[in-house]
Amino acid sequence: MNIELPDLSLVCLVGASGAGKSTFAQRHFRPTEVLSSDAFRGWVADDEADQSATADAFAALFHLAGVRLGRGRLTVIDATHARRADREKAIVLAREHHAVPVAIALAPPVEVCLQRHADRQDREFAARVIRDQSRTVERSLKHLRKEGFRRTWVLREPEQIDAATVERVP
Ligand code: ATP
Ligand code: MG
Repeated sequence: MNIELPDLSLVCLVGASGAGKSTFAQRHFRPTEVLSSDAFRGWVADDEADQSATADAFAALFHLAGVRLGRGRLTVIDATHARRADREKAIVLAREHHAVPVAIALAPPVEVCLQRHADRQDREFAARVIRDQSRTVERSLKHLRKEGFRRTWVLREPEQIDAATVERVP
């Protein structure tokens, strides 16, 4: 699948923990284009896993995203985006800056996320959390367009995720 992105897009990656969002972002975007909720938790609290820092982390992330969009820079938000309210904030921000809100959802089988989670050292939460996220994401997928994302892509199989290409279009 070739993902064509308008030059001024606000890209929301959508997917459970372990779905491969950060890996995908690293593969297809410049490091400076990607704003990750984990990195912002780190910047505001010195601890990427500190959930008490989430509100401050997102405030900082959205501020920077707005600054970037105001300067005409494509921006990627690397966060789970499982809840509608989280996606909604990004859509509002994109519209404020006349950017195109797009969603790229990575929805591999939950077993894939769980296996990767088991192999990781940097995530401590329970498997149940991943199952919940995966289910919530799955239920969200069919609503993305009517929520306001102008373009949406849903990648399901790991092979499909690995084979995807990203192209910028004017
Ligand atoms: P989180 O929401 O917890 O940040 P994430 O969606 O960003 O998760 P990643 O960190 O990209 O997930 O990937 C989780 C693990 O799965 C990592 O160890 C990564 O190396 C592995 N992984 C991610 N994508 C792939 C892939 N396409 N093929 C093989 N392994 C992958
Ligand atoms: Mg990640």
